[in-house]
Amino acid sequence: MTDIMDAKEESSAGNVIYVLGLPYSGSTLFGLALGQHSAIHTIGEMNNIESDYNPKTQCSCGEKLQDCTFWNGMRSSLQKDSETKDILNRWDSSGNAARHIIDRRGGLRKILVVLGIPLQWIYGRQNCEEYERTNLKYFRGFQSYLPSGDYCLDLSKSPERLELLDESLGAKVKVIYVKRRLRDVYASILKRPKRTRKYYGPKALREALWLFLRARHCDRVFARISDSNKAVVNLSEFIDDPKKVLSNLDQWMGLDPVSRDGFSPRHVELRSQHVFVGNTWVKRSQTGSVEIRESKARTELTRFQATVFRLVLGARAEQWHKR
Ligand SMILES: [Zn+2]
Repeated sequence: MTDIMDAKEESSAGNVIYVLGLPYSGSTLFGLALGQHSAIHTIGEMNNIESDYNPKTQCSCGEKLQDCTFWNGMRSSLQKDSETKDILNRWDSSGNAARHIIDRRGGLRKILVVLGIPLQWIYGRQNCEEYERTNLKYFRGFQSYLPSGDYCLDLSKSPERLELLDESLGAKVKVIYVKRRLRDVYASILKRPKRTRKYYGPKALREALWLFLRARHCDRVFARISDSNKAVVNLSEFIDDPKKVLSNLDQWMGLDPVSRDGFSPRHVELRSQHVFVGNTWVKRSQTGSVEIRESKARTELTRFQATVFRLVLGARAEQWHKR
């Protein structure tokens, strides 16, 4: 698969930060906090740009996309290059443009993915290569638009996407694995309204098994990333002391910490960022900012749920935060 990406292509892709994590792990809040550095540009869940783009959609800066300077600038930058121009056409057909097969949720294929069956077997070699090529175009588009040396921050979280990006972008990707206590993730998942997977057994057991497999899948893909290109952030440590966690990461990425001086560490500005994909709270914020603090929502489990959690996820939960 590497034959389609020569060294020149790789170097033109720019610097990418990829946030890996489970759903409900606080990665959006973390990503927005990280993106307050002037050399980091939080894009959000990049795998949803095509399907979610609509000129009338609200951006976190407060403008509609059609009036947002960042996304308009990005559009004209993509327009200039014949290679990247065709991805713009897909933005404009959104509504019709479904997610790429690799990014689609649910179904039998996803079960095979989390079990660790190679993606090329599940989706076919062609789909995987096409996915890599398209994403490389995106990253190249961002690279030519953003100031040289800056990072583009992708909050897609999914390990299968990371696996393919790692193959095509190689050392250009720095991976940050955001880990929230598994018990809290489990409680959040049980609280959400369900649309998929409703036919496979009792919810508490089904979600525990799924979470077990998903966490294992994240761990497995993360293990393949070279040590110098990866970092782990525990959400509780980040909430306790965001300043310390962020400045450690800045240092690791070779960024000047001075760019954070203007920001209060607990206060995340949304108006200065341009995210329109992913969590809707980003767009709905009335004040244009959000505080980093422990969630007040209780994450209590019933006795049955707690037992299932211990049986299915107990051992993994215990060792999860040690690394
Ligand atoms: Zn904007």
